[in-house]
Amino acid sequence: SEPLPIAAGGQPRRQTHGVQVGKVTLGGGAPVVVQSMTNTDTADVASSVKQVAELWRAGSEMVRLTVNNPESAAAIPRIVDKLAMMGIEVPLIGDFHYNGHQLLAGEPACAEALAKYRINPGNVGFGKKKDTQFAQLIEFAIRYGKPVRIGANWGSLDQSLAAALMDENAQRAQPWDATAVLREALIRSALDSAHRAVEIGLPADRIVLSAKVSGVQELIAVYRDLARRSQFALHLGLTEAGIGSKGIVASSAALAVLLQEGIGDTIRISLTPEPGTSRTQEVIVAQELLQTTGLRAFTPMVTACPGCGRTTSEFFQELAKVVQEHVRGKMPEWKITRPGAEHMTLAVMGCVVNGPGESRHANIGISLPGTGEAPSAPVFIDGEKAVTLRGENIAHEFVALIDQYVDT
Ligand code: SF4
Repeated sequence: SEPLPIAAGGQPRRQTHGVQVGKVTLGGGAPVVVQSMTNTDTADVASSVKQVAELWRAGSEMVRLTVNNPESAAAIPRIVDKLAMMGIEVPLIGDFHYNGHQLLAGEPACAEALAKYRINPGNVGFGKKKDTQFAQLIEFAIRYGKPVRIGANWGSLDQSLAAALMDENAQRAQPWDATAVLREALIRSALDSAHRAVEIGLPADRIVLSAKVSGVQELIAVYRDLARRSQFALHLGLTEAGIGSKGIVASSAALAVLLQEGIGDTIRISLTPEPGTSRTQEVIVAQELLQTTGLRAFTPMVTACPGCGRTTSEFFQELAKVVQEHVRGKMPEWKITRPGAEHMTLAVMGCVVNGPGESRHANIGISLPGTGEAPSAPVFIDGEKAVTLRGENIAHEFVALIDQYVDT
């Protein structure tokens, strides 16, 4: 059968060192990788396996888990084994703060089972112990052949570095404002730690950097600077983005600007899940961000109009939802049987005003009858009117046409 059409898109990426994380490559020209993080108690193996599997099935290509005590460190190899028994080989990242050096020393099987370590230079240790503990963490990464994300965070900034920069700033002829000083402290915390890791012996192609803040404009400024000042692969994310639409909009606003400029090798959307909603929402948002910006394709895109006074019922919103859920649900199968299906475009439109036009632009589109229109729904396939659907079974018949299109 003919290959499915490929959507336009893709921006030139900033050249970074390619980093291997298990079987996934970050940077070095590889597609931007989607990752997420569990919120289970890592020591609870069954719950953690279940959530990692859910995130992986939703499309998370790497999953981070907190490793904060000996129990969680001991659970990591068991989690990896159980996932492997389920046929899931997603790279797991261990998130370490304060005691990572002790946990990796105490649980060699954890050090081996993780595909990457995340360390926060602001939380490695305090006072004189900080440098020693940072070196120990890097030496574990060297010994076990693992990459490391050096992840600085606005909320846990290295205070001694921030204080030193404040002093340095006071001597400048034209001092920066306080925000600029903190931004510089965050960037230097990440860059200085990365350079130190290289001096200790960790190759640059085993280092990923992040410097997260919770403000959109600040994040853009920080990452532009990081990208200008190094070639390390970059992990993008707006930290503490928030709940619901605020978190989605803020993350998308910040990350879209950076991605458009070619900055960013992996993304995580840090959403506070609304009670009762699934953790997988952050994965879907990350995928949709990458797909709508033309950087990757994961699932057929459904264009749907918002509806207005011309729509005769809620049927068309329901149909848009049915179609979106159907194609998302079919993608794991289509990935194997019909590679390229993820580039397909679909349209579900509420009336004749924009319906036929938008439907013609999609691979398959349907224009439902609006107020005062004949009770029929023309379907367009590859720009041509192919069939008109009528009656009770429009949804079922339209979904069947989509499946038929993919299968032929
Ligand atoms: Fe309203 Fe029709 Fe436009 Fe949809 S296509 S928003 S129903 S005018």
